[in-house]
Amino acid sequence: MNNFSPNILKTYETCPKKFYYQHIEKISMPSSASAFEKGKKIHALANYFLRGVNISRIETALNDEEKILWNLLLDNSFYQKEYFKSEFTLSCKIEDYWIGGRIDAIVRDDNKYYILDYKTGSIPKNPEYDYQTMVYLLCLDLYLKNYDFLAFVYIDLKNKQNHVIEFNETLKQEYEKRIIKACSTITSDTIYNCHTQNCKYCEYSKLCNCEDLNEQYL
Ligand code: SF4
Repeated sequence: MNNFSPNILKTYETCPKKFYYQHIEKISMPSSASAFEKGKKIHALANYFLRGVNISRIETALNDEEKILWNLLLDNSFYQKEYFKSEFTLSCKIEDYWIGGRIDAIVRDDNKYYILDYKTGSIPKNPEYDYQTMVYLLCLDLYLKNYDFLAFVYIDLKNKQNHVIEFNETLKQEYEKRIIKACSTITSDTIYNCHTQNCKYCEYSKLCNCEDLNEQYL
């Protein structure tokens, strides 16, 4: 593994066996696309808009629900800040491990920076310590080097609220510790045992002959 993305780290945490199928064996399984479609359209539109592309024709392709979400994003005070980057791929090295991923958007107020993540579904249960939060804040901290303020903002369009995580030195140390531990656990694993209760809803369940899975269907 030469780059640990938030998605890779999350998959392993959910189920090492699933990680094995996806990232070692490189087996991809069809998953329900409908849940992602709405989010994908809003993300694409948001990216074009921030980059100054004329989106008037694309906007007409949105359905009523998507239009409401899009207008909520346009009205969001963080989305209205000065554009810095959009759909920005960033990586950095923490000890022996490269981490990184693609950030929805970065905006700023002078020398204050905000990572934006638009959510059309729910935000993570523990946003402060979600891998996405930790990886992106650590990467942007190293990329910017000099700044007055840095925060991660989950824009929760469904519940019309923002969840803001302010980055600081204490969080940085904790994030580094957690990321190094997660990457080193993955790197040293050779067995990929499952430890999940969610097999029933897993797209790999047809491949998997895990004992937990069999017990659930007895
Ligand atoms: S079916 Fe269960 S054990 Fe198998 S990959 Fe999915 S979550 Fe993991």
